[in-house]
This record gives sequence, structure tokens and C-alpha cells, in this order.
Amino acid sequence: MTTEPATVPHRYSNVRLQDLSWNFIIPFALVHLGCFAAIWTGVHLETFLAAVVLFALRMFGITAGYHRLYSHRAYHIPSRALRCIMWFLATSSAQRHVRWWASHHRHHHRSSDTPQDLHSPHHTGFWSHMGWQYHKDAAPWNDAALRDFDKAFPELKTIDPYAWVSPLALLALCSVLWGAEGAAVAFCWSTVANWHVTFTINSINHVWGTRPFETSDDSRNNALLALLSFGEGWHNNHHAFQSSCRQGHTWWQLDITWMVLKVGEKMGLVTKMKAPPARAMARWST
Ligand SMILES: [Zn+2]
Ligand SMILES: [Zn+2]
Repeated sequence: MTTEPATVPHRYSNVRLQDLSWNFIIPFALVHLGCFAAIWTGVHLETFLAAVVLFALRMFGITAGYHRLYSHRAYHIPSRALRCIMWFLATSSAQRHVRWWASHHRHHHRSSDTPQDLHSPHHTGFWSHMGWQYHKDAAPWNDAALRDFDKAFPELKTIDPYAWVSPLALLALCSVLWGAEGAAVAFCWSTVANWHVTFTINSINHVWGTRPFETSDDSRNNALLALLSFGEGWHNNHHAFQSSCRQGHTWWQLDITWMVLKVGEKMGLVTKMKAPPARAMARWST
């Protein structure tokens, strides 16, 4: 696909059933319904802890993978095998393949809070939360915006078309380990949490919070969302300094993703971590 996302005027103000991508909406609805199966299966400590661990691993995959590694190239993972693990963590959260996600995210930064931005709550209202995943206008992606991918991530050509396998493999694993309770609690609960925490970075992080940096969009810093999303809630910092791997700039701006990547850097697994510029850090010393 080469069509630029949202060059077609979107119709979020008047969404009709035929405007939705039903091949994505149906699994989305089924996983939400699957959460309620816990009423019948019960919830044991083991499956609840599995849900917490799966949420954490995949939240890290979303922020360190989809967002900072692929969309922004804010750092690098030299090992191809390790990159494949990161790809799996990201795509097992059921947010489509990496090329689609990165293309849309780069478009969000190019057109933030303009009428072309499918993610903007100022123009798409409720649909900013999830319409960028499930509205037909969001289906195309722009390979021209990903020209750097072939050289940086050559394995994506082989594995990315199979991104849909990742969440199914995880569902199968949870079902084998813990039966129906594993599917409902470990998989469905954590998947729904991963979805909505990710989606709030668009729907809430462009509405509620502080704006320490003047940007051309309405991005905000929100400490609660930063905690839930492992650092993504420092969204105004991120819009101001998009290429920085570090989104929380001070000790009190908790950025779990950056902290884990720093450990990876010390172990030699992660390289080329881009730091915020001095003028960004200077903002917090006054
Ligand atoms: Zn944003
Ligand atoms: Zn970004």
C-alpha cells in the first residue's frame, strides 16, 4: 500500500457501520467479551499475575518497539534475534504490523492536531481513542514514509506480514497453560489493558495535562498515563523532542521504558540511544 493515511477526508463526525474495518473490530469486540468469561472460569492468583506480566511485557513492546525503536529510530538493537523478540512483544499486543503502526505514527507527528490527524481528539472526538485502528480511513499506510526500514530492519520483510500470528500464538499459549481461565484472564484482560492504555496517549494526552514546551500541537504531560504506559505519558516532552529515546526528562518523570533500555545499553544489547538536547534538560533545572 502506498496511499498516504488520511489524505482522504475522514468522516469521524458521522461514523457509519460500513466505515469500520470489521476484520479488526470483530476480534477487538470478542477479546473484550472474553474478559467476562472470568465470571465462569474464576480468577486464580497465577492467571492474574500472568495477566500483569503479559501487560508489562507487551507495554514495553509497544513503547520500546512500535514507538521508540521503529517509528522514531530513537535507539538501535544490533542483534537481529533480539529485534525479532521485540517485534513479537509489540505485535502480540494486536495493534497490527510494525510498518502500519510506524507509518501512522509518523503521520501523527507530521500532522498533529490538524484535520488530517486521525489521532486528534480536537478533530475526531471519541474516535481519536481507537478510530486510528478501526476506521477504514486508517487502513492504508505509507511505505514512502518507511524508506529507512529496509536497511535498519531487513527482517521485517519476512516477519511483518505475519504480525497477526503473534497475538494468536500468545492466546494459544495461555490456553494451553491455564485453559479457559488463561484465555480470559491472562490473555484477554492484559490485551484490553494494553489497547486502552495505548489509545489514551492519543485521546487523553492531547487534552489533559501540562505543556512545559511550546509545540505546534496540543500534546500534554500526564504523570498518571506516564506511569501506566511506561513513560509515554510525557507526551509533550516527546512531541517537543521526538527523536529522543528518553521521554521523562527528570528523576521524578518516571520513564520505565528508558530505564530498562539503559540497562540494556549497559549490557551491550542496546546502542545509539538518543538523549534529549541540553535545552530540554535545562528547562527542568530552573
Ligand atoms: Zn501525540
Ligand atoms: Zn512519537
